[in-house]
Amino acid sequence: MSHNGLLYIETVGCQMNVLDSELVVAALRQQGYSLTADPKAADTVLFNTCSVREHAEEKIYSQLGRLKFARRKQPNVVIGVIGCMAQKDQELIFKRAPHVDLIVGTGQLGEIPRLVDEARSTRKRQMALSLDRKEGSRADVAASFESYDPLRDPEMRPTPWQAYVRIMIGCDKFCTYCVVPMTRGPEQSRPPRDILREVEALAAQGVREVTLLGQTVNSYKVTQDGRLWRMSDLIAAIHENPAIQRIKFVTNYPKDMTLDLLEAIRDLPKVSRYLHVPLQSGCDEVLKRMKRGYTTADYRDMMERINKTVPDVAVSSDFIVGFCGESEESFQKSLDAVREYRFKNSFIFKYSPRRGTKAFDLYPDDVPEDVKRRRNQDLLTLQNEISEEDNAALIGRQVEVLVEGPSKWAAKGREADAIPGWHGGAAVGEGKAESHHHHEQHTHAGSGSREIHHNDDFVPLSVIHTDETSNALTSPGASLPAVSPAPAAPSAGVLQLTGRTMCDRIVVFDGNPRLSGTLTTVAIDDCTPTTLLGRIVTREVQHGSTGLLPILV
Ligand code: SAM
Ligand code: SF4
Repeated sequence: MSHNGLLYIETVGCQMNVLDSELVVAALRQQGYSLTADPKAADTVLFNTCSVREHAEEKIYSQLGRLKFARRKQPNVVIGVIGCMAQKDQELIFKRAPHVDLIVGTGQLGEIPRLVDEARSTRKRQMALSLDRKEGSRADVAASFESYDPLRDPEMRPTPWQAYVRIMIGCDKFCTYCVVPMTRGPEQSRPPRDILREVEALAAQGVREVTLLGQTVNSYKVTQDGRLWRMSDLIAAIHENPAIQRIKFVTNYPKDMTLDLLEAIRDLPKVSRYLHVPLQSGCDEVLKRMKRGYTTADYRDMMERINKTVPDVAVSSDFIVGFCGESEESFQKSLDAVREYRFKNSFIFKYSPRRGTKAFDLYPDDVPEDVKRRRNQDLLTLQNEISEEDNAALIGRQVEVLVEGPSKWAAKGREADAIPGWHGGAAVGEGKAESHHHHEQHTHAGSGSREIHHNDDFVPLSVIHTDETSNALTSPGASLPAVSPAPAAPSAGVLQLTGRTMCDRIVVFDGNPRLSGTLTTVAIDDCTPTTLLGRIVTREVQHGSTGLLPILV
């Protein structure tokens, strides 16, 4: 059946989904497809979906609604719903959106190229799903969720030198509010040999920074050839790869933040000093109803262990507000926790009841929407104050930044907008897209509000070429190390750039986009709760020089 080979794919949700989309696109490209940004031009349209909150699903249904009559113009169009919502809602999707041709769950993504062809040539609906958690033994269910990782497509990545690497699939924690154990199946760690091979392949493609992904990434555990591999062993092995300059991992589970891992972070210089360890609530009763598996005292112990072992680490959290039975007093304890731990940033979500979860069956969703909204705002305001105070402490200092590239505004050619106001302000209220990990609609405090993927780098300082910066103040023969702030006035070839520090703080500054992928030093002049604002510091580089700039953050 003929088709125009144009593929449109829309991705909602977390980094796992971003990675899945990359892999699906790579597989379809091998079949001759190419990407388009226009869903109306494509005759293969895929939605990679998220089920964590209802809002994410509604968004997809409304997008699907817009394609209701697509077949009138493109008779051969194939419309597919893939990922978490596909696994969760299954044929319900055909009922709500009868023009959908294809439903493929998270554990069956490898089937997509075949099923797209099948759907097009037979015009019959296709569905590929893994077993439900209660449909078989744990082993059978696990076997029905395949880790789908071999093909990597650099063009689908935000930058060619940053990549996600899945180290675990699924989740067995069964927090009572969460659909992930259903949509992504049983927790399974990938064998280290597969992960290391993939990292090598990525390094050969030019990747310098890898972000290891898992729902509870620090629970990683595999026995391979009689040897037990923990997360600390895995990052140590990846650390040996000379091409890989920066290693990150998300998301951590508080109970599994073991000393060996913290010591590995302390001892391995290429590991980012950043830990995302969601607390979810500051109230023990709420944590118990959430079945998070730890108490606030456990979390406090963990924070003490973190601060003792890796004092320079930045910690961020997730919170759910308005969970079933959350009283005003319980909520105050979440505020207290933010005050106590001074998270670098927090992702704050209003509780959204999800069918199939324990909380949905056991507890009434009894916190009114306006109360959820107010608590969300209160927690966000407090977190933003703290983030801004902590960012302000960096004003006047210099930070090492791995340059990611032009900021979203600069990339859109809106430099005039980009420079004066900095736009780095807090994403207030639910519904702001954000940067680093929950791409779905949510409130996001204390981190960037752009679609950048968190990263830094560890390029030796000697690769900073002063002539790459906007207004390099080089005077041959000046003594080393000479550090001089470059005037920030924009000039030809200079755009607003973004980057991240070793602690994952977002930095915005002007510079030549050719700096992307390199480490540079930025003097911080100002800040918002979400962003540090600065200018590139130029220094003179003499061959053989080993003089290093102070590395503060
Ligand atoms: N596995 C990760 C963890 O345990 O932290 C996160 C997985 S989940 C995709 C990301 C965040 O969404 C959670 O940390 C939680 O704060 C939020 N979340 C999950 N289920 C939710 C629900 N039903 N309503 C609101 N927020 C929810
Ligand atoms: Fe969901 Fe809890 Fe698993 Fe995270 S740990 S994915 S919140 S069940």
